[in-house]
Amino acid sequence: SDVESQKERVVTEEEWLQKWEMGNIGFHKEQGHPLLQKYMDVLLNGKSGLRIFFPLCGKAVEMKWLADMGHSVVGVEVSEQAVKEFFSEHSLPYCEEPVPEISGAKMFQSTSGNISLYCCSIYDLSSSIVGKFDGVWDRGALVAVNPCDRQRYVSLMVNLMEKNSSYLLVTVSYDPNKHKGPPFYVPESEIKSLFG
Ligand code: SAH
Repeated sequence: SDVESQKERVVTEEEWLQKWEMGNIGFHKEQGHPLLQKYMDVLLNGKSGLRIFFPLCGKAVEMKWLADMGHSVVGVEVSEQAVKEFFSEHSLPYCEEPVPEISGAKMFQSTSGNISLYCCSIYDLSSSIVGKFDGVWDRGALVAVNPCDRQRYVSLMVNLMEKNSSYLLVTVSYDPNKHKGPPFYVPESEIKSLFG
């Protein structure tokens, strides 16, 4: 079936790093995502000073939007190049430190302290390291995760969520027979069974 055709496909971390090196990052939106503008109220619920998580963050400019609104932003991204480009493209000074709990991982934090980007695999994180979140912006994240890792990804995300939190998920509708992904095809029925 259509979905079967993508199930076995795996994109390695090395391949993601290469995409960044080659500038093969068609997924990046210079102007940010219009759907976050549209649903910002759903994410924030009128509250201030929230902790917002950006899984598989790339150099998403929406992180800057939320930080500028006074929220505290945490992202995770395997590509150090992406993380450094985020800070330099917004002229944000930052410092860099190791993450004691994760060997080889680094945390890049804006000097102002409200944006912390972990450079490691999302599967290395846990709530004991990054805490829990009031909001999640999942764009190009679940749909970029290898189909075989979806359950693990979702279990982690659910674990990182505070009780009264909001999760905005962007998916892409297309014919999975015509494109091998990513973004991968995630049918609505699967989203329902993954998140319960
Ligand atoms: N959310 C971003 C980027 C989407 S592309 C945006 O909206 O622009 C997916 C990103 O996830 C890539 O930058 C890739 O380098 C990163 N990535 C892939 N696998 C990862 C993993 N296991 N842990 C952390 N980041 C990962």
